[in-house]
Amino acid sequence: MRAAVMYGAKDVRIENVSDARLVEPTDAVVTVSRACICGSDLWPYNDMEPSQTGRHMGHEAIGVVEAVGPAVRKLKVRDVVVMPFAYSDGTCEFCREGLHTSCVRGGFFGTVEVAGAQAEALRIPQADGTLFVLNVREDDALMPSLLTLSDVMGTGHHAARAARVSRGKRVAVVGDGAVGLCGVIAARRLGAEQIILLGRHPDRIALARAFGATDFVSERGEEAIERVRELSGGFGVHSVLECVGTDQAMRTAVGIARPGAAIGRVGVPHYEATPLSQPAFYGNVTVGGGPAPVRAYIEELLPDVLEGRIEPGRVFDRVMGLDEVPEGYRAMNEREAIKVMVRP
Ligand SMILES: [Zn+2]
Repeated sequence: MRAAVMYGAKDVRIENVSDARLVEPTDAVVTVSRACICGSDLWPYNDMEPSQTGRHMGHEAIGVVEAVGPAVRKLKVRDVVVMPFAYSDGTCEFCREGLHTSCVRGGFFGTVEVAGAQAEALRIPQADGTLFVLNVREDDALMPSLLTLSDVMGTGHHAARAARVSRGKRVAVVGDGAVGLCGVIAARRLGAEQIILLGRHPDRIALARAFGATDFVSERGEEAIERVRELSGGFGVHSVLECVGTDQAMRTAVGIARPGAAIGRVGVPHYEATPLSQPAFYGNVTVGGGPAPVRAYIEELLPDVLEGRIEPGRVFDRVMGLDEVPEGYRAMNEREAIKVMVRP
């Protein structure tokens, strides 16, 4: 089968690799009908050390179950499923608390250990706990939005939850990538009164407006902080969704948080220590968040997708075949594309 393998920075190749197969009795094999390139894939795309063996990329997919191991109970061949970016057993202490990304038997797709979804097929560990069966036909028009339940919509929702968004609150979203845009959807869905997007790309601003953002700040650094404060009555916002992961983004997040605010961070942090600990401390600002337990959110978000109340699939502005995946990475890295859907 064919798969996207990253060998180093700016070096993604489509190769023939050994077929995905069952290894453990709890595994399934899924044929990928739709996958994605993620903003988080751009970190290794820019800084991965050269590797002889490479890394099979991709952690978002919708597909069809092709085979199940003897211990799999809930899935059957030909089920249409959505795959969260982390696998989990669904039964351990943390899964039962809704924190599937901390599953004691869990892990992440598209890593050195577990192959990724930018491929014709992939092996799913802990298949019963991981996969969510969709009661839709494989060619359903809702597929782009359903695909976002793999990661970006669940991650935006997690940022909003960690930032304690609720009815009537003033919210700011730092980052205009697919997760930030889904964060706008999530904030609107949870009843925010004001949603300020910090971003500067006209196509993304237009989409954020359609998703419910009310104000836009294109400045950066101190100027951005000043502008958000002006827009939010002088003191800053109640909730900040930090969807980037850089030191600068976190500094902005703390700078625009009003006393008592919460920051939900979902961008993988590329800083050692959380910046501005003292101002955050004196403002009683909560800093929460982490990898989103998207498996826990599918059931909650699914009805809104199926009934068309939210359309997170609009973040996909390119559709590409597997052979074009290297070009997809380039286009996302150059900010020519918001998010690429891959159809192997
Ligand atoms: Zn678990």
